[in-house]
Amino acid sequence: MSVEQRFDAVVIGGGPAGTTCGTRLAQRGRKILILERSKFPRFHIGESITAFGFTVFKDLGVFDELNDINYVEKKGLEFVMHERSRKVYFGRGKDGEVQWAFQMARGKLDQVLLENARKHGVEIREEHLVKRVLFEGDRAVGVEYKDLTSSDPDQVHRVYGKWIIDASGQGAVLNHQFKDNWYPDPLLEKKMAVFCHWQGDIEVTNTLDDLNFKLCVHRNRKDWAWYLPIGKDTLSLGVVLSQETVKQEAQNNDLAGIFYKYASDIPYVSDILKNPTLKTVEKFRCVKDYSYRSKRYYGNGWVICGDSAGFIDPIFSTGLQVAFNSAYALIDPLDSVLDQETPDLSRLEVYNRSLDRYYRVNSMLVYLFYLADLDEASFHSGAFMWKNVQWAGLKDRLAFVWHGLRYLRADQTTRRRWGSQVLFGDPAQDNVVADLYMALSRNYDKVFRDKTREVRRGSTILIEG
Ligand SMILES: Cc1cc2nc3c(=O)[nH]c(=O)nc-3n(C[C@H](O)[C@H](O)[C@H](O)COP(=O)(O)OP(=O)(O)OC[C@H]3O[C@@H](n4cnc5c(N)ncnc54)[C@H](O)[C@@H]3O)c2cc1C
Repeated sequence: MSVEQRFDAVVIGGGPAGTTCGTRLAQRGRKILILERSKFPRFHIGESITAFGFTVFKDLGVFDELNDINYVEKKGLEFVMHERSRKVYFGRGKDGEVQWAFQMARGKLDQVLLENARKHGVEIREEHLVKRVLFEGDRAVGVEYKDLTSSDPDQVHRVYGKWIIDASGQGAVLNHQFKDNWYPDPLLEKKMAVFCHWQGDIEVTNTLDDLNFKLCVHRNRKDWAWYLPIGKDTLSLGVVLSQETVKQEAQNNDLAGIFYKYASDIPYVSDILKNPTLKTVEKFRCVKDYSYRSKRYYGNGWVICGDSAGFIDPIFSTGLQVAFNSAYALIDPLDSVLDQETPDLSRLEVYNRSLDRYYRVNSMLVYLFYLADLDEASFHSGAFMWKNVQWAGLKDRLAFVWHGLRYLRADQTTRRRWGSQVLFGDPAQDNVVADLYMALSRNYDKVFRDKTREVRRGSTILIEG
């Protein structure tokens, strides 16, 4: 076993959460190591980015580079059902134009972010697989890893850091190690996504009339598909089904068979697939993407960030937004304790609260949308809530009514801002819609008390076929 020097922080995972943390800390003069198990560029699902991305990309210094390689402009979200469709746009900027975001293959995006971290002085080692975090007492002090590029890839190495940042995505190194620090989201059903990339003659207009991100709802009002062009001639399409459905279908069908069977009754996507020029350019993949959260997002010498901290059903494509938000929420409190021999852990409580809020608000949004049968009009009217929301008690109803009154007192513009912040995964602290969702989430903790107590979670699988 070889033992190495000490870094200010060792980051597990070179995805968007890991590289944002790494670059932001390096910008403050910190000595950072990122260990990433893959060789980049690597395939990753999640190509639709929300508007906050621009702030991050400018801060990190990669906006121009990404702008040069990006072709598709995401200006909002179109809800498509068999009966009707409706478009929701990002807000308008100071110039009066609708804001937009990049939409591109994650292989490219994540590689730019990784290379940029390297340019900022972060030491990056690809094909380095972290096996576990090392503790002295309750304090995380380093990690054990394997160098998959070496002549002896089974040799275990150790490297030490003042703090360990687990940004390993659904690999969730620390939560697997702790076992009891995470629980399935009590509100959200277990889902699976089956997806692929296609190339062919498609038309990407980047206009407000034809939004580049469509959420298309199956006739059964439970399953749905995403339609995302990610280049001039490349499409990402995926269906999200219940885990039970996929298990049953898998007895007679491969992943492609399952995809085409469900996509055939999903509006817009079924029409797109009739285009004879479209050919798959990746293998079909499947992610068991069911939703989870952590009980704690930090401890002595460790923090978890991005998907390794929590994952919410991707129906509103807020994963990257939450990964960036969580990295941003982490940097100040973490930087303030990095030089302390005995860290003042209370400084990280603000991080814990921020993450708890992101995941709860996002999870409530998704839960309510499923309760509204994936019907945006019914969701918007709120009427479905009268008969569908379960209440734990009077106190919880009153908390909800109180925030409801605050909402009603606000003007239309503010309400719209709050709504789109929540929809696009960026709820500010003064957001009253987010406060409403937080009150509902606490209510549901009580309604689903038994489920919330369930702390064990099986490991996430990625099936390729
Ligand atoms: C079906 C589906 C669709 C989605 N669609 C969208 C979307 O449209 N828009 C959106 O914003 N989000 C979407 N998401 C979510 C989005 O992909 C994630 O939220 C985002 O990638 C989180 O970034 P991250 O850096 O936390 O994790 P990741 O991007 O997963 O990065 C983690 C990195 O850690 C590495 N790693 C893992 N284990 C180890 C280890 N032991 N040692 C070393 N390295 C390790 C991995 O190789 C990976 O590179 C979707 C997710 C799913 C499942």
